[in-house]
Amino acid sequence: MPGDTMITYSKERQAELVARYDAVKARIDAEESQAPVLLLAVGKLKPASDIQILYDHGVRHFGENYVQELEQKSKLLPGDICWHFIGGLQTNKCKDLAKIPNLHVVETIDSLKKIKKLQECRAKYQPDQPAIKCNIQINTSQEDQKAGLTSEEDIFALVEFCLSEHASHVQLAGLMTIGSWDTSHEDTGENKDFAMLVEWKKKIDARFGTSLSLSMGMSADYKHAIKQGSTEVRIGTDIFGSRPARSEAHIL
Ligand SMILES: *Cc1c(COP(=O)(O)O)cnc(C)c1O
Repeated sequence: MPGDTMITYSKERQAELVARYDAVKARIDAEESQAPVLLLAVGKLKPASDIQILYDHGVRHFGENYVQELEQKSKLLPGDICWHFIGGLQTNKCKDLAKIPNLHVVETIDSLKKIKKLQECRAKYQPDQPAIKCNIQINTSQEDQKAGLTSEEDIFALVEFCLSEHASHVQLAGLMTIGSWDTSHEDTGENKDFAMLVEWKKKIDARFGTSLSLSMGMSADYKHAIKQGSTEVRIGTDIFGSRPARSEAHIL
């Protein structure tokens, strides 16, 4: 059962993490947001004990990038955590993801093939769990190394699938972008990647009658993101500190 393993942690780490989390939360609350903003705690490559600390502090939404790490953590940690998968999505991993009962959102949908796989596997392995919420990832900076869609045709096709009767176990929730590193580190007024994601939301909402959420903003750029209409910021470093190399990360 999830959460059966006793996960322990030190008082020092607890004090540190709670202080860092509360500081980020306070900075978010101080921004002039247009809508409520979810603070997603991104614990990738950090031990399960770090997540348990914030869980005990009342946090329920956590983000992970690697399917195997998410599977392991979801088995160790409490079953009422709302997991967000925010890593690069591969079709052959959709099955493992769909099996995780408390998988709440997949934020990195970038093809019809992958969302159909999630739908099919959720129906097969977890038919009684809630539908997986899905965000369409848009490559707003159009960088080759970034995942995400760029063409209206592809984006509309995904939306249409989600709104069809075929999508009984996946549910369109919002849009997500990472944006270019350079843009997020320039201290100019408006971030053009975030502005573009807002434009996509307007276009899709107007055409399909949806009301999409906007997952945009990370440690380096979340303040701009909130000003521009973000409804979810994904924060790793500012909460948990810098991450170890993947080869050195440990869950327990
Ligand atoms: C790692 C990651 C984050 C968190 O990044 P930080 O800069 O550590 O806050 C957010 N979103 C995605 C997609 C990530 O991979």
